[in-house]
Amino acid sequence: MTYELEQESIIKTLLSSKVKNVLLQLPDGLKPYGTKIAEELQRKARVTVIIHGDPCYGACDVARDEAKALGIDMIIHFGHTPMLKLKRNIIYVEARSKLNVTRLVAKALPLLKKYGSVGLAATVQHISAINKVKLLLKAHGIKVLVGKRQGLLKYDGQVLGCDFSTCISIASKVSAFLLIGSFTHALGLRIVTRKPVVLIDPYQEVIEDVELKVKKVLAKRLYIVQKCLGLSKFGIVIGLKPGQLHLELAKRLKDLLSKAGKNVFLISAREINSQLILNFPDIDCFVISACPFLPIYDADLYPKPVLTPNEALAIAGVKKLEEIYG
Ligand code: SF4
Repeated sequence: MTYELEQESIIKTLLSSKVKNVLLQLPDGLKPYGTKIAEELQRKARVTVIIHGDPCYGACDVARDEAKALGIDMIIHFGHTPMLKLKRNIIYVEARSKLNVTRLVAKALPLLKKYGSVGLAATVQHISAINKVKLLLKAHGIKVLVGKRQGLLKYDGQVLGCDFSTCISIASKVSAFLLIGSFTHALGLRIVTRKPVVLIDPYQEVIEDVELKVKKVLAKRLYIVQKCLGLSKFGIVIGLKPGQLHLELAKRLKDLLSKAGKNVFLISAREINSQLILNFPDIDCFVISACPFLPIYDADLYPKPVLTPNEALAIAGVKKLEEIYG
């Protein structure tokens, strides 16, 4: 197993809290471990376990309502750090990676040496590697900064798909970033900081400067926004997951787009995917208010143009595209 799933500590907590009914919530990448974890908890902590089968993309997506419907005393949510203040018993298991990252950093050095100073960041799965990587880079003469934890983030240097505040705070002091995580996080980091990003993806064994790929994505974003300028019927999607419900934002976007002459409808949904888009064939273009990067990360999956809130503001004429993408 390449993840630290902390079963022993979960069992201790369950035994000491007299919990009887547990809901396991795992991202799809960890679901293959679901039955093994359930078996162990049932045997050692003497609890009834239900494995939640729906997708889970982030800490914004805690199965609060499902737990209530199922009479659950404790949710065990894997793969993320806490993001929401919920009145529920929740154990967060970060599922840290056990992969050796320093081996890959050595291979990334030729890409990093041209930058005098580098900001270092990681997703929570790889956050344990930050200190070792920092020392390694310093030993090779690279100045390294790690942004202090803030916003929704629990650790120094941590990034989330929708929170890069640790990196934004140091962006003006570094020439580039080294991110240990996935391409989607590297893409988000490059967009919000506008600094070059070198990615180390330990699971894919990928080491790359993402600039060329990011340029392609940004060119596509500009094309999509230009296309939407001429469309008239817009759907604004309101996410129903606990951390994705941004009703006021959705209503504000509706007002602004309506003032810009668009015919706008509000649509609520728990799962936001291509099927949702296909269900409304008469709508020309969608805006997702739920997750700021979903339209970008999943762009290739949608059968129609799908915009971020910022891009919708550009369509409404209240923001310039250069402000968003530089
Ligand atoms: S809102 Fe989007 S980026 Fe943020 S945690 Fe949820 S899925 Fe990830």
